[in-house]
Amino acid sequence: MTYGSSEHTRLGKSRAPAIARAERRRSREVTACTVTSCGRTLGDDEPHWKVCGRCEHRIRGWLRELPRQLPLLRASLRPDSGPTQSAIHGGRAHAPLPVRGDVLALLGPAAPGPVHDPEGDQAGPVPIHAVIRTWAELLADERGKPLPLLRPGETYGSYLAAHLPYALTRPWIADLHQELGELISRIRNITCTEPRRRPKTAPCPDCGAFGLMEEDWQAYIDCEVCGLLLTPAEYTDHAERVMPGLYRTALLIVTHEKTGGTHREGH
Ligand SMILES: [Zn+2]
Ligand SMILES: [Zn+2]
Repeated sequence: MTYGSSEHTRLGKSRAPAIARAERRRSREVTACTVTSCGRTLGDDEPHWKVCGRCEHRIRGWLRELPRQLPLLRASLRPDSGPTQSAIHGGRAHAPLPVRGDVLALLGPAAPGPVHDPEGDQAGPVPIHAVIRTWAELLADERGKPLPLLRPGETYGSYLAAHLPYALTRPWIADLHQELGELISRIRNITCTEPRRRPKTAPCPDCGAFGLMEEDWQAYIDCEVCGLLLTPAEYTDHAERVMPGLYRTALLIVTHEKTGGTHREGH
């Protein structure tokens, strides 16, 4: 929602915010992030979006993580030779599969069109390529452009990432967020790779809490308390401004405690 500057001036400073608040209340469903687990209020710079910047940043991170996970997933194809898998006297009706079925299903090719399953015998997870391709097709369809051809081994993840600014305005973006999140967690469970989160030393410039964290594959540093996102450059700027003061304060406290201690010892 953008207020024309002339209208803003005409309404006067005292009335305009009240009208803005009322309009926001009326259109609450479009001013809050549509990801069910989030629901953050959208910022004034993202009024036409359906999800907040934090959820956008998650989607981007997952799309960046996906091609890095694929080699690990391929490496997980061979089943572990644990006691259950290596038992040869257990009366097994069929020879064990030489590869893990769940991994194979995930790595499998995408069906070229909608899958019809009248017998209901399609089981297991939807292949990664199929999930990504379905969303890429929807996006290309809405934009009225054909999907570009892929090089072998590629997914449409980079296509989705490149067109994310448009996707963020579509009503289905929260579903994409959910499906992609579930897909990534299924892959991480198999490859046993959780991204590491590391706390940053400077407090959040917005809420003041020591809640800033950086995470593998994510482009932003995020505040766990208020949800603020900072680029690494913004964080460095902020840290350079506030940390010297914080160190001085910490030093003063330590010195004060020491001299206070000496003083008390002297009595
Ligand atoms: Zn959100
Ligand atoms: Zn914060």
